[in-house]
Parts: sequence; C-alpha cells; structure tokens
Amino acid sequence: MKPLPNISESLAQHGLMANKTFGQHFLLDLNITRKIVRLADLKPGVRVIEVGPGPGGLTRALLETGADVVAIEKDRRFEVLLNEVSEAADGRLRLVFEDALTVDEGQLAEAVPTAIVANLPYNVGTPLLIKWMTQAFQPVSMTLMFQKEVAERIIAPVNSEAYGRLAVIAQATCQARLVMDLPAKAFTPPPKVASAVVHLIPRPDRPSPGLLDALQKVTAAAFGQRRKMLRSSLKTLGGEALCIKAGISPDARAETISIEGFLALAASL
Ligand code: SAM
Repeated sequence: MKPLPNISESLAQHGLMANKTFGQHFLLDLNITRKIVRLADLKPGVRVIEVGPGPGGLTRALLETGADVVAIEKDRRFEVLLNEVSEAADGRLRLVFEDALTVDEGQLAEAVPTAIVANLPYNVGTPLLIKWMTQAFQPVSMTLMFQKEVAERIIAPVNSEAYGRLAVIAQATCQARLVMDLPAKAFTPPPKVASAVVHLIPRPDRPSPGLLDALQKVTAAAFGQRRKMLRSSLKTLGGEALCIKAGISPDARAETISIEGFLALAASL
C-alpha cells in the first residue's frame, strides 16, 4: 500500500460529514479496523466483499492484507476518497456504487472464494445477514459489526430471551461467534448503542433452499406469537398435527425448541 493521509484528514479535505440516513458511524482508528481484519482470519487468495466502505478505514486494513476487495457503497459522495484508496492499493479495490440489499454478490465473487467483512449500517444489518445466510451465493466467512443487541440475538442459545428467528436461521446455516465488543465512543459520530463483531462460518451441511424457506415460515409463525403454545402459534401451518409429525410437543413454546427441533418442524412442513 502506498501511503495515504489519515482518514480524518481525508474526510476534512473533501468536506465529507456522516449522513444519518445511511447509518454512517465511522471507524477512523486503524488499530481497531486492523483488529477486525485479524478476527476475519482471511486465508490467502480469498477475495473480500465489504459493504459500506464509507471513508475507507476498514477498507484500508483489508487491503493491507494483500487481498482483492470489492466494496459496495450506496453513498456516492465517498467515490473521490475511495478512488485515492484504490490508487494506493494499485487497483486491488473495486468500487461498486449500488444498494447492497439488491446487489448480486455471486457475480462480484466471480467464482473466487469470497469472505464478507463489514461495519454494517445498522438499519439494514439484519436483512443483509438474512440475505447472505439464505441465498445461493455462499461466502467462506462473514465478519460483521452489528448493534450489540443484534449480535446477541444472532448467537443466542435456546431457552434465552434473545433466542428467536435470527438465532435459529443463523445457527442452522452457520457457526456463529461473538468475537469483539466495541463501545459507542469508538465510532465517529458515536451511535446511541454499543456494537459487537460476529464471525460466521457457513455450515457445509447448510439446509437446502426448500428447507430454509420452510424454516423461515415456521420461525416467523412460532416467534411471531412467542408466548403461545406451538399448537396455536403454528395453527395456519398445521398446528398440532405438524408438531406431532415433527416429534415436538404441541404444548411447547417457541423459545424452548432447539435448532434441530425447528429443522424437524420445517422438514414436516
Ligand atoms: N466501513 C466504514 C467504517 O467502518 O468507517 C463505514 C461504516 S458505516 C457504519 C455504514 C456504511 O454503509 C456507510 O458508508 C453507508 O453509506 C453505507 N450504506 C448504508 N446503507 C447501504 C446499502 N444499502 N448498501 C451499501 N452501502 C450502504
């Protein structure tokens, strides 16, 4: 990497400020972004897709590893600044100015093993994760910054308050670990809540698309009325008969059903 001005200077030089509508909370300290990249544990030859590079703090740390990076950014104001980063990295950074919710990651990966690393915009963090866990394109790993509360919902164990739809889909498709906590003050501007990084590795035995579709339906119904017994919350999907077919007690409540239990309900559906 050729030398670059520090990120705060670059932002000031281009008169760029964070825009709340895009969920912009920047990491300007390279020590923090380098730590996130170490936690991503990128293997040689792996391409990286970064969502929301913004001023490029995480992007710089990713490029320092020697990886090729494809960065998807919705806010075109950062183009001039990110072009400087791309030049410093001899063109190893490809910029895509699109909405990450609709972009085709498979096309960007071009059949090269690809990891996703991102300090996600909080307003679209959960839908993006659901997309990556359920679509045909599979990254080799995902290292993602979320609001702490969302991170806890991803890794929540059965019988806990945070256990819900997100935990079931995440843990049925991936091995998920919370690997780093970050206080609000680490960001510019600071958000209202603390954050955490989750590292997810897709399971080789990920459920088939049909089973995942059924799993989404069953978990939506079961956790949509989480205080009710399954015979009642799953009524429109078969209620008691569905539970018995899956070997699950119809009197049980959603938060007591393990990942395997939900997979059995989905398979029965
Ligand atoms: N990576 C930078 C950092 O760590 O300093 C910025 C992170 S900031 C939390 C989220 C970034 O995602 C912003 O740059 C924002 O413009 C971008 N963004 C928001 N919504 C997006 C979307 N739907 N698709 C792509 N980028 C998006």
